[in-house]
Amino acid sequence: MRITCPLCGERDRREFYYYGDAVYADRPAADAAPEAWDDYLHLRDNPAGETRDLWYHEMGCAAWIEVTRNTVTHEILATRLVAGREGKKAAAKGRGKKA
Ligand SMILES: [Zn+2]
Repeated sequence: MRITCPLCGERDRREFYYYGDAVYADRPAADAAPEAWDDYLHLRDNPAGETRDLWYHEMGCAAWIEVTRNTVTHEILATRLVAGREGKKAAAKGRGKKA
């Protein structure tokens, strides 16, 4: 299987780490009802057909990518960045700063 990273182009799937359903990127608010957290943490659909999954370009640019694919035909329909590298750079700068 080949995955097109929006930053690096088409790459072998072995360069990527599969994380799971793209619903992980839609985290509930901290004060959301327990049912919303239960749904977020434990309940997943298992459709035959189109899914949205999170992949991490571990052996490439280290970007998180949402991959829309068909689980029946294995066709990849779309890929997009979940968070840009600019956001990661900003977060990394903030971590090492002394107050
Ligand atoms: Zn990449």
